[in-house]
Amino acid sequence: MKRTLFADAVALATAFFVSASAYAQSLSPTPSPTAPTPSPSPSPIAIKAGRLLDVKTGKIANNLYISIENHRIKSVSAEAPAGVRVIDLSGAFVMPGMVDCHAHILGDLSDLSPGSSFRMSSAKKTLWGMKNLKVWLAKGFTALRDAGEDDLGYGQLALRDAINAGWIDGPRMQSSGSYISLNGGHGDSEDFIAPDQELPRRPNIADTVDEVASAVRRDIKYGADWIKLMGTGGVADLTSDFKVQELSEEQMAKAVEVAHRAGKRVMVHAEGTEGIKAAARAGVDSIEHGTMLDDEGAALLAQKGTWLVPTLYTFQHGVEQGTSQGKDPISLAKEKEIISYQQPAFTRALRARLKIAVGIDDEPQYLPKEVEALVRGGMTPLQALQAATINGAALLNWSDRIGTIEPGKFADIIAIDGDPTHDINAIEKVVFVMKDGVIVKNDLTPKSSEP
Ligand SMILES: [Zn+2]
Repeated sequence: MKRTLFADAVALATAFFVSASAYAQSLSPTPSPTAPTPSPSPSPIAIKAGRLLDVKTGKIANNLYISIENHRIKSVSAEAPAGVRVIDLSGAFVMPGMVDCHAHILGDLSDLSPGSSFRMSSAKKTLWGMKNLKVWLAKGFTALRDAGEDDLGYGQLALRDAINAGWIDGPRMQSSGSYISLNGGHGDSEDFIAPDQELPRRPNIADTVDEVASAVRRDIKYGADWIKLMGTGGVADLTSDFKVQELSEEQMAKAVEVAHRAGKRVMVHAEGTEGIKAAARAGVDSIEHGTMLDDEGAALLAQKGTWLVPTLYTFQHGVEQGTSQGKDPISLAKEKEIISYQQPAFTRALRARLKIAVGIDDEPQYLPKEVEALVRGGMTPLQALQAATINGAALLNWSDRIGTIEPGKFADIIAIDGDPTHDINAIEKVVFVMKDGVIVKNDLTPKSSEP
């Protein structure tokens, strides 16, 4: 078919508009709360909540109606709103959608072999990511923070932008860029390759303060919301020692300076005691894992207001799993060693009343297991639910839009079969998920009354 010049011009203008608006969204993880969401606005709807959790206070109210209009919660009241379709969740426990603050979304997450990243193109990893993101939603996690990837094509940022543009389904997302790591450090994904088989140096390997600054700027250039530093050794790679601090305090402070100046934030993988404290002193925004936190470190995080994302379950699960999913015995041995530090450190974190958010750092099918692990570790069920909702929202600087069910917030709402404030394991039975006012899962008999 012959296209007219005019049609070409319209197509070009449309393409420009779509990419320009996606670009505008990618500029900031916190667009103005009044900015319209790009997906078409669903018609007004209401949810009848049999039990509704006020996650701030732990109070549970019965038989309230949540009215939803233009992606947002309009009101919460005892009166049924007139003239709108009502979703009947009167048999369920209704609460805000949850937030995962330590997600890795790209590739086949069940492949734990050291070379897994090298067997897949960026395109394929990203398509896997599209599939993986649906699991986050199905488990009731309507927002996530990607904790970094080693994908040279930044597939995680493409997925974030595709969700924002309404092209694909997925949680609201903020994302880190590529891991910034020392040569041979925890984030050097080639540290299992023999010296005469080495590939060209990866872009975010940084051995000096200046190299850290360049790597941070590179991530910002391609649209990262967060900078992910590998502050200490870790478990999954084959050469690093998790007890050892890798990036210097000076390097981490430089990353904070460059990132904060650009309005971005910094999350740091930190297992070993000294690395945790150096990261906190450097002014980072969140410590990931914190598995060997000591009393001095806990006091420092408390004083600085640094967030902790403890990722308890992934190591517990990893020890159970053994080498069954291709994990190298070297990693398994490290995992068995590090697990002994976990509970004492988490007890210190609770005693110091640190700001704690939920992060899975594992396959998304296990998301509820992290919430349960927080309770086994000493939180009350309500505290764990708060870590998964209001705390996650606060860490993402999104307290004005998600984390509670209140007028003005985005309609990210889930329902559970059971009461997780009594038995946290009920969190496994997510039967209904709404994100942005759109139902993405409904396992209940759809009993809704038409107006
Ligand atoms: Zn991680």
